[in-house]
Amino acid sequence: MSEDGNNGVLHGKYELGRQLGHGTFAKVYHARNLQTGRSMAMKVVGKEKVIKAGMMDQIKREISVMKMVRHPNIVELHEVMASKSKIYFAMELVRGGELFSKIEKGKLREDVARSYFQQLISAVDFCHSRGVYHRDLKPENLLLDEEGNLKVTDFGLSAFSDHLHQDGLLHTTCGTPAYVAPEVIGKKGYDGAKADIWSCGVILYVLLAGFLPFQEENVVAMYRKIYRGDFRCPPWFSSDARRLITKLLDPNPDCRCTISKIMDSPWFKKAAPKNPKFICEDDVGNLKGKETETLNAFHIISLSEGFDLSPLFEEKKREEKQEIRFATTKPAEVVLSKLEEMAKKVKFSVKKSGDDSSLRLQGNEIGRKGKLGIAADIWAVAPSLFVVEVKKSSGDTLEYNQFCSKELRPALKDIVWTSSTDKQTPG
Ligand code: AMP
Repeated sequence: MSEDGNNGVLHGKYELGRQLGHGTFAKVYHARNLQTGRSMAMKVVGKEKVIKAGMMDQIKREISVMKMVRHPNIVELHEVMASKSKIYFAMELVRGGELFSKIEKGKLREDVARSYFQQLISAVDFCHSRGVYHRDLKPENLLLDEEGNLKVTDFGLSAFSDHLHQDGLLHTTCGTPAYVAPEVIGKKGYDGAKADIWSCGVILYVLLAGFLPFQEENVVAMYRKIYRGDFRCPPWFSSDARRLITKLLDPNPDCRCTISKIMDSPWFKKAAPKNPKFICEDDVGNLKGKETETLNAFHIISLSEGFDLSPLFEEKKREEKQEIRFATTKPAEVVLSKLEEMAKKVKFSVKKSGDDSSLRLQGNEIGRKGKLGIAADIWAVAPSLFVVEVKKSSGDTLEYNQFCSKELRPALKDIVWTSSTDKQTPG
């Protein structure tokens, strides 16, 4: 193994190839897993440089962040290895290059920019809901895969909310000047979420304009402009885009647009060209369309994946789907009364449909994205077999997931029917 070289075999497992790029502390190489033949990206960080710069904690943080966050728009971390002098991160290989290179060729079409921005906000929202702030968002950290999907990389500067100072604000000045929020420059301590939203505003501006909103010959003049939120939108920006950018680039973090407001803005909501990765297969829709007689127990079992009690962050598929679906031999009244019982316990309001086929639950507390709403639907697919689908109808995904593992799944555990191999007798 050539430990420090870039074309040896690493840990007997990865063959290192050409260099793909480099950051301040890291070089990124193409790598191939010799066992699986799978290509990936290997980020190599020199330990000494990191220790000297006092960044060991930051690198450790990067590891935990990247292991914690799994999202279609965030570069996935597969493995972390270390040698005497280096740390190696085996990551998902993103083959489409940097988003930045697209902008270098000029501004993007509004619908194209919207599609990237929607993916960026989806990734940022996901991180924020887990207490992770990127803090160095800029086009260079936004990569594209072969299908043109956006992938956020470089968590080297991110920090957890539990690393916040006692006043709940972050105090490290970091990030790239042109994309940095005024309160970050001010060193007064800042809210990582608000700072990321500012950077998203700068990114959106750059995507639509092809140049930076705050650009000056010298840094002091640039900072002055950033402080004042002094920028102009070029004439080709639509009025909805202008309105959104103005709300994002508000120098006062307290007045700056929140993620939920961004998602609710007319510009953001306009339909993007459909990205196949985001089209969620509507199994239940298909089921409804089918004649119920054509369904047999095999269909039901394959449809019902039973309950999954694995930890929250590891079950990517289920988390993305945000729904629980299972088969039961209990009649609808039993399913509904189980849900009503649980609702009573947690003080959720309940609305039942007249035909006992669905139930809507709503929490009383205002969460990160308003009150948590849950919809449960029941279909009779055979005389004594039902399919129950429970999903989030409103509120925050993380809060919903926590609610699922703490309340919903335990409440429904006894009525789930799975195949006999799972040793649960129908009945
Ligand atoms: P970073 O140190 O994460 O900013 O990475 C530096 C550069 O390496 C990026 O700007 C990309 O050009 C490239 N790079 C980083 N991560 C990957 C990846 N997962 N797949 C492909 N290229 C990457």
